[in-house]
Amino acid sequence: MRIENEIKLGFKDVMIRPKRSTLKSRSEVSLQREFKFKHSNHLWKGIPIIAANMDTVGTFEMATVLAEHQLITAIHKHYSIENWRNFLADKPDSFYNYIAVSTGTSKQDAEKLKEITDSFPKIKFICIDVANGYSEHFVDFVKYARDNFNDKIIMAGNVVTGEMVEELLIAGADIVKVGIGPGSVCTTRIKTGVGYPQLSAIIECADAAHGLSGQIISDGGCKIPGDIAKAFGGGADFVMLGGMLAGHTESGGEIVTRNGEKFKAFYGMSSETAMKKHAGGVADYRASEGKTVEIPYRGDVVYTVQDMLGGLRSTCTYVGAARLKELTKRTTFIRVQEQHNEIFS
Ligand code: 5GP
Repeated sequence: MRIENEIKLGFKDVMIRPKRSTLKSRSEVSLQREFKFKHSNHLWKGIPIIAANMDTVGTFEMATVLAEHQLITAIHKHYSIENWRNFLADKPDSFYNYIAVSTGTSKQDAEKLKEITDSFPKIKFICIDVANGYSEHFVDFVKYARDNFNDKIIMAGNVVTGEMVEELLIAGADIVKVGIGPGSVCTTRIKTGVGYPQLSAIIECADAAHGLSGQIISDGGCKIPGDIAKAFGGGADFVMLGGMLAGHTESGGEIVTRNGEKFKAFYGMSSETAMKKHAGGVADYRASEGKTVEIPYRGDVVYTVQDMLGGLRSTCTYVGAARLKELTKRTTFIRVQEQHNEIFS
């Protein structure tokens, strides 16, 4: 047994210190970023926020709206090839910049991934997603994906430490997804005791990735727009959101009305709900590591997107970053023991 004594930080442990700025208005701030990737030869432009590949969030309906704002949607892996065909039928080429195909690492997953990418060769992003990115099998799958889908931008995760980020980048990932246990409907920390405070994970993993010309996605734990700003400030190149995009018209599932109030179900992809839906139940050797919750219906996602992006532009003006790209350089975190005032919440 060993103990690391350095304190690791989450979003709740810091605030961003304001800095003198010459920016007059939020409208002067550009949230667009341009990336070249380590392995695949694409140049990507857009706002680097990604809807999570959960079946309640990474939906076709979500992608249609988010793409209009140049945000990416990691489409969940439970759509059939027929669903994909109908969805992509009338989409312009530019649309393919804003969707990723998600996959697990099983043989069936690999076959389906091949079928989808063969049918729709314009697809650029693949998101290889497992709960525990520390397994050898996962690294082998990333190598397989790089060898077999060489022109694609490969996102892979999840991990939380620099040495594993390096290993995945060397294995063929362009972008490594970072986050174990911070998610809004995740119970990994409760069931296993394993995890890493998200802001420290971002800072350490971004440093490792950037040293090898790779990028990272901060995945999970953003509860409010300010957390997205902290994730970018800490060095995340992309930020992935589940809960903040759940509960909208475009999110999966039906609206339930109870006592005149509308709700939508939201659940983790390792929850009992998801496993019953997609795998026929929870296998007896494992525990569910996700929650199921009902959240008040929040209307159309476009308003939430505008609110989030407005907040992020405002962060940039507070620290004098004319472009999102400059935010990390302009960020000084202060460690704190308070966050926002909750008296009326
Ligand atoms: P959120 O933005 O809701 O805080 O976090 C979203 C992320 O939580 C997802 O992108 C995914 O990485 C993670 N996640 C989704 N479902 C589950 C689950 O059932 N268990 C765990 N451990 N993590 C989950």
